[in-house]
Amino acid sequence: MNFSSFGRYMKMLGNLYAGILLAGALGMQGLLAAPPKKQKIDYSFKKLAQGIPVRVLLEESAAKDVAWELNSDEGFVLYAPTSKEKTVLKKTKLLVTHKKGNFYLNGQKIPDAHIFVLPLRGLIRHGTIPYDGVFSLTKSKEVAYLVNHLDLEEYLMSVLPYESMPGWPDEVQKAQCVASRTYAIHKVLEQREQKKNNRVTHPYDIKSTTAHQVYRGYEKTACFKHIVEATRDIVLAYNNKPILAMFDTACGGVIPGKKKGIHFGKAPYLKRSYACNYCNEHPYYRWEAQLSFAELGKSLATLLPDLGQVRDIKIESHDPAGIVQAIKIRGSHGWVTIKPSQLRSVCKNLRSLCFTFSKKGRSVQVSGKGYGYHMGLCQWGAYNLVKKGWNYKKVLQFYYPNTTFMKLKRSE
Ligand SMILES: [Zn+2]
Repeated sequence: MNFSSFGRYMKMLGNLYAGILLAGALGMQGLLAAPPKKQKIDYSFKKLAQGIPVRVLLEESAAKDVAWELNSDEGFVLYAPTSKEKTVLKKTKLLVTHKKGNFYLNGQKIPDAHIFVLPLRGLIRHGTIPYDGVFSLTKSKEVAYLVNHLDLEEYLMSVLPYESMPGWPDEVQKAQCVASRTYAIHKVLEQREQKKNNRVTHPYDIKSTTAHQVYRGYEKTACFKHIVEATRDIVLAYNNKPILAMFDTACGGVIPGKKKGIHFGKAPYLKRSYACNYCNEHPYYRWEAQLSFAELGKSLATLLPDLGQVRDIKIESHDPAGIVQAIKIRGSHGWVTIKPSQLRSVCKNLRSLCFTFSKKGRSVQVSGKGYGYHMGLCQWGAYNLVKKGWNYKKVLQFYYPNTTFMKLKRSE
């Protein structure tokens, strides 16, 4: 274990990845793939410090409820950045709990509210899942966080199996890879910006769920390695900054530029003003669902405890893109208005918020378009554009208008 690298990584964290630089805007011809680099499973802070670290949130809970188990075959190294104290722990299991304002590791009180946990060798497992890189435990106010720090390119190799479609042509995978890399680095830089402006920051950059990008630890198969390598460090930029590269399964032909309530001034590259109908092979390009009043009443009971029996439901308004803006429900005591996202949170068979209702007795037939939020890259659309002969760069610039490509530069 190279402890001199701890200091270096800490300094980097202090500067919130000041080492990330953006090389100048590249023309299309400038996008050369970097040569493949040997991957090592054994990790150290040195590797992290030389790469572009991403902090991925694995757990967030009320401090009092913390009961996290970490496993490592040969033991752990603990590092407390405040006291600079390093401890080697030759135990294969580490149980993290919290009591009266302090973390406890295997029952031993730790005075620090922020501590790093490294594997003595190999990988750390949380539950049954192994993870690259290092972990941190942080308590902020009464919330505790378990965060995995790893290099951006390693992170992408683990994200792509979940966010892309294995078996699709390489050009589609490359489009997804550049979108995912751009999204992640946007999140990293967002935290950096927050810190610079003395705003509240999180001890992580990105969530590991569909709220951001799905990440489930070290990916053994590495079947997307060649995709990550072929697009290494390439990101999409607008005004020389990595964009918030949102993506969706199938947009359903909805035009995002017509959506209401989106701050397109901040993200003009998401304001696509023309339709993608290339996702029309997806089963949810057009979808139907049935909502019976009885089921609706049950589903909404927690959200609206005073609703009683559902007697009627209607859409109050749509925006110009066709996205539902408000829904009215008549219960035992009259009409109440809810947001469509509230309805979707309890009715999982609604695939998007772009739908219409037609009443049928004591139920309603829902007809909808697309699967997701209709923003940015449409994965099924990209698949069909690639089948038509488009390359990944052309596909990305179709979905994110007026963007350019840039390369991230690693600190040496
Ligand atoms: Zn589409």
